[in-house]
This record gives sequence, C-alpha cells and structure tokens, in this order.
Amino acid sequence: MATTHHKLIILGGGPAGLTAGLYAARARMDHLLIEKGAEGGQILLTDWIDNYPGFPDGISGFDLAEKMTAQAKRFEMKSMFGNVVSMDLSSPIKLLELEDGATLSCDTLIICSGAHPRPLGIPGEKEFTGKGVSYCATCDAPFYRNQHVAVVGGGNTAVQEAAHLTKFADKVTLIHRRDELRADKILQERAFANPKVDFIWNTIATAIEGKDGVERLQLQGTDGNKSSLKVDGVFILIGVLPNNKMLPLDVLNADEEGFIPTDLETRTVVKGVMAAGDIRSKEVRQVINAAGEGATAVLAAEQYLSNL
Ligand code: NAP
Repeated sequence: MATTHHKLIILGGGPAGLTAGLYAARARMDHLLIEKGAEGGQILLTDWIDNYPGFPDGISGFDLAEKMTAQAKRFEMKSMFGNVVSMDLSSPIKLLELEDGATLSCDTLIICSGAHPRPLGIPGEKEFTGKGVSYCATCDAPFYRNQHVAVVGGGNTAVQEAAHLTKFADKVTLIHRRDELRADKILQERAFANPKVDFIWNTIATAIEGKDGVERLQLQGTDGNKSSLKVDGVFILIGVLPNNKMLPLDVLNADEEGFIPTDLETRTVVKGVMAAGDIRSKEVRQVINAAGEGATAVLAAEQYLSNL
C-alpha cells in the first residue's frame, strides 16, 4: 500500500482536534484529521456543558461536538476514520501506521488523542462493566430509572454526572475518599441542594458484588470501618488516563502517567510534533483549554513548516 503524505496530520477529533482542523482548513494547509470513533471525543460523554463561552444557556456535549464538526467542515476540513496503532517520529517525515495496515506520513503532527476514564481496579469492576458498572452517566443514566446508584469520585465529572443521574434514578449516593469535594463550587452547591443526592465521605469502594448484575458495593472508611451498600449500578468517575497506546512515549518524554509535556506553544520535545487537549501533561482539563490548544498547535505547525 502506498504511503499518503500530508503537510499536517491531526490525530484525534475531540475539541482540540476539531479546533486544529478548523484552523488548518481556514489556513488552507494540506491537512488530514484522523478520528477513530465519533467526532467529539469525551464531550460526547458529557450530558451538559455550562461553561463553554458563547452558549448562555449551556449546550449538550453531543450538540457542541456536532457544531464544532460542522464549523470545521464549512471550511473544508479533511478528515477520515482510522485507528492509528503506531508511529515513527525519528525523522523529519513522521510515519503513522493504521490498524488496517495503511501508512500515512506528514511533516508536522498534532497529537489530540485525548483521554479515557480511569478504572478503580477493584474486584467485580471488570466483570460487571456493562452490567451495572459504567464510566458514562450520559450514556447509561436512563437504564437506572427509579433505582439507586452509586457514584465514585469527587471531581467535576462525578459531581456533575451525579446531578444528571437524578433525572432518572430515585437516589444517587456519591462516595468520596476525602471529606471535601474537588469539583467546582457551583457544581458542589447544586449537588448539596439536590434532595436525591447523598454523600458518603472518607470512604473507598473495595469490591462490586452481585449475581447477574450489580447488587452491592463493599466500602471501607479511612478509619478502617467496613460496610456494604445496596445499589443497582455504580458509576466510576475518578479522572482520566491518556490515550497513548499509539505514541512513542520515550521519544515524546511522556510524564509518569503517560501524558505528553509541551511548551506554551504546544510543541513537544520532537521537532514538528505538537500535543493539544487532554493528552497534554497539565493540571486543567476543560473543553475551552482543549480548543485553545488546538488553535495554538496549528499556529506552531505553520511556523514549523515555514522554517523547513
Ligand atoms: P479529577 O478532577 O481528576 O477528579 C478525580 C476525582 O476522583 C477526585 O475527587 C479524586 O479524589 C477521585 N479519585 C481519583 N482516584 C481515585 C481512586 N482510586 N479512588 C477513589 N477516588 C479517586 O477528574 P474528573 O472529575 O474526571 O475530571 C477530569 C478533568 O475534566 C478535570 O480537569 C475536570 O476539571 C474536567 N472536567 C470539567 C468539567 C466542567 O468544567 N464542568 C466537567 C467534567 C470534567 P481526590 O479529590 O481525593 O483526589
């Protein structure tokens, strides 16, 4: 199979990748965006986005993904579906290998491969995934109409999605390992005011049990006290891990969790390779940051190409 070459390849079609695609298309650069699933990335897992500027009433993750894609396509963003499984960044022409054996090459690459939900790693979690254990409240909340579900986590995702779950479930118990939430204060206020949400503090989940589906969670307090909680479902929302299987982590000097460090202009340690969005090593993972970094990365790519 012949290798197809582009000046710029954008890997991933979440908010960072779609914004990079928009900027590359408007700059009339020879580009290609590669996405393995649906365009939108993790925002497709988000019920409602209240803090993306320009939408005073908020917008659903699905609608924002559609609008970002439509905007980039209006300027003729080029994209394809494909699963990049490996890459060689050792020479100025970067090589990408796809699952179907096809190869692509480029002068400059923007990695926007994003992140995915972090598992808890406790007994029963794998066994009951899809049978009561979920990592996406937006996707699975309707299955829990009039039931009792637990949410594990204390960040923005856990607190926001706990509130979303109350549209369906009768009761949502949020279990957090500390006595204070990490989530933004506005989300905390809403959760504390929601009569369907209760909290178990200073506690971790140690096992998920049941027969054909989830029936119970085993819990352990930081004081060592053990208890069990009857639930019909468990939503594990404890942060993200990088989508980095296809990346040469040593070459990109990945951090200990596998995220990719960059400078302020999104340049990685490899010349001509940028990283934007949740795959970047950083503290703040917001849609607005991802979009901003996607734009910055294209400007860095243009500068790199003009110096070749
Ligand atoms: P996060 O901010 O990293 O929070 C993870 C939460 O899970 C923390 O409360 C953490 O506890 C807890 N946790 C981590 N490992 C655990 C374990 N093994 N057992 C029990 N609890 C554990 O992750 P996130 O909430 O998924 O959010 C990811 C990123 O997306 C963040 O940057 C977030 O701000 C962003 N986000 C933003 C919004 C929004 O702005 N509306 C919505 C969703 C997500 P500790 O607090 O004790 O560390």
